[in-house]
Amino acid sequence: MEEFNLMINGESVATTDHFEVINPADKSVIARAPKATTEQLNDAVAAAKAAFPAWSALTYAQRRDLLMQLADAVEANGEELMTLLTKEQGKPTKGFADLGAGFEFGGTLAWIRATASMELTPETIQDNETARIELHRKPLGVVGSITPWNYPLLIGIWHIIPALLTGNTVVMKPSEMTPLTVLRFAEIAKDILPAGVLNVVTGEGDIGAAMTSHEDIDKIVFTGSTPTGKAIMKSAADNLTRLTLELGGNDAGIVLADADIEACAPKIFATSFINNGQTCAALKRLYVHESVHDELCDALANMARSMKTGNGFDEDTDFGPLQNKQQLDIVKTLAQDAKERGANFLCGGEATDETGYFYPITLVNNIDDGARLVDEEQFGPILPIIKFTDVEEAIASANRLQVGLGGSVWSQDLEKAQSIAARLECGTVWINNHAMIQPDAPFGGVKDSGFGVEFGETGLKEFTSIQTMQISKS
Ligand code: NDP
Repeated sequence: MEEFNLMINGESVATTDHFEVINPADKSVIARAPKATTEQLNDAVAAAKAAFPAWSALTYAQRRDLLMQLADAVEANGEELMTLLTKEQGKPTKGFADLGAGFEFGGTLAWIRATASMELTPETIQDNETARIELHRKPLGVVGSITPWNYPLLIGIWHIIPALLTGNTVVMKPSEMTPLTVLRFAEIAKDILPAGVLNVVTGEGDIGAAMTSHEDIDKIVFTGSTPTGKAIMKSAADNLTRLTLELGGNDAGIVLADADIEACAPKIFATSFINNGQTCAALKRLYVHESVHDELCDALANMARSMKTGNGFDEDTDFGPLQNKQQLDIVKTLAQDAKERGANFLCGGEATDETGYFYPITLVNNIDDGARLVDEEQFGPILPIIKFTDVEEAIASANRLQVGLGGSVWSQDLEKAQSIAARLECGTVWINNHAMIQPDAPFGGVKDSGFGVEFGETGLKEFTSIQTMQISKS
């Protein structure tokens, strides 16, 4: 059985205890991951703290150069990293619309390179005979990154590359469900980054919590569930640790009467079921005007029925398993509640293959607000479709939940769509698409979906503090 090690101060560090990592496609144990002790976490933080002065003293160009080398090294190890992703996360290498492990890996490279190309330069606020006032951005120190199991490598990159580029050092903690790809990534990075600049610790449950109250961690960047985000905020309060919280959502899409259904249907399908629905900004509640409801349901159901759910290593697999049993159980519970309320299952709705955590692509209509499948984030391959008559009802429905990550409006009338989009309470709104993100466009949530943004210059600024410099001239 393969064993993995922690990465602390540029060295591969073995642990006494381990935990097992499961392949969700067949429930087999694929590796033993290192269970860090609190002392090892402290070592990692101390290493990051010690590396900070020299790393932050480098220029952007010097750090960029190393991060670009890192991208090349990651690219050179692509096959191994993609195989690990399929093994521990379950996603197929290619999958439906090429949105599998290859997509996560391609996104990882694109994000490292695009983010490393950015730079924050000082701004001039005033420059006259009295004084010159400049706004400088300084790194915070040690950044703690805590990531979930849906995109282990890509979300890790979203956290660490902007942190490193702006001069911070990092301690990363991947999800205990999917630690392997990140641990392997750290081994690759070890040969490029100075010792202590990037450290990785893994463990079961307690390590993440210990990071959030650690007095030598200056900022936590977290992607995961809203309850954990709230726990982190409480725990971070004593040290006034800075936070970026990218939490769950329950994104609504509103399809207007004049939407081009033939053009919309494939995009709605892809953005609802991307990564088997285990995507924070996937379309999770679909509100459709009654005049196009049946046509859209038919189009989506036709697509769904042609999909194959199975082991990610089988070439013809479109969608893999859910990543873990807890998530499968959530999907089953929400489906059961929908059945008891008399909802109509257009396809799917039963887990038939129990070799792994499989659940078929499932579409549910004749369902309303108040059903658990509509009100709670499913984070899986089951989409509720809610019919509406008056668009004002749909806007109210979209906004009625306490989450606000993304939203979308689908229409051929772009002006009307924009005016509706502007009324949606969410951090990103798309017109005639959903879940599209890119390295230079800020992304983040409102309400219980968190605060702070990732990506772009605005995202870089999250890893800095402001220093205003006043140079008196008189
Ligand atoms: P969690 O929020 O529980 O876990 C995410 C990360 O936080 C993991 O690394 C976890 O570590 C860590 N963690 C857990 N508890 C604490 C704590 N008290 N302090 C600090 N870190 C902690 O998500 P789950 O994986 O349990 O998923 C549950 C739900 O979260 C899903 O159903 C989905 O709704 C949502 N989710 C949202 C994601 C998004 O992208 N926005 C991604 C994944 C899930 P450990 O693994 O050791 O528990």
